[in-house]
Amino acid sequence: MAKVVDTPEYSIRESKRARRLTIKVSSWAGVEVVVPPRFNRSEIRKFIQSKAGWIKKSLEQIGPVKELQKPDTIYLGLLGETWQVEYSPSQDNRLGVSETDANVLLLTGPVEGPVDVAAALNQWLQKRAKTILDPWLHQLSSELSLPFSRASVRRQRTKWGSCSAEKSISLNRNLLFLSEAMVRYVLVHELCHVRQLNHSDKFWRLLETFEPNARETAASIRKESKLVPRWAMA
Ligand SMILES: [Zn+2]
Repeated sequence: MAKVVDTPEYSIRESKRARRLTIKVSSWAGVEVVVPPRFNRSEIRKFIQSKAGWIKKSLEQIGPVKELQKPDTIYLGLLGETWQVEYSPSQDNRLGVSETDANVLLLTGPVEGPVDVAAALNQWLQKRAKTILDPWLHQLSSELSLPFSRASVRRQRTKWGSCSAEKSISLNRNLLFLSEAMVRYVLVHELCHVRQLNHSDKFWRLLETFEPNARETAASIRKESKLVPRWAMA
């Protein structure tokens, strides 16, 4: 007998950039169906039902749905910087983010929607993360004689960093919210993977030659994700 699955509650958002029907599940908007302009809406329900299992699982993972808030301040622990965020609505089509002196981050354009604001702030964060983390990784790499092939900085949802068999290191841009000691630990951890692509005793011994408290840091770094604001996960 076929399993009966309820149709989950959802909202519909029309996007000019959307090419096809997509479903987004987030802790601030719940289940959102993004449709291209002039989409035949009668097809949505069927599509939702076909994905009901996946949607249910995703909703369980994110927990209660809570609206996204626009931040008033941003604290980048790694740099010891506190930014005041100011919103100045204007007629521009594009949401602009500019740094002014006195650590004010000025947002202009369509600044009403928290999701749009989050997207603009995340672009700003991405740029900052790249200019900070890239050179630091290169510097540590030559200092410790642990050469890697490629580095990338992007948002990762569940990891602070990763290293591939091709010695390509990927760093989470949200490391900017952590303390310097924690970020250094992550960078050195990933660099050690270019020699030991596992978490064997050999790996830990290598890491401990550079980071004597590596095991304690590894245990405590999980809790650091609470330093990442919700907008940075949007
Ligand atoms: Zn690792």
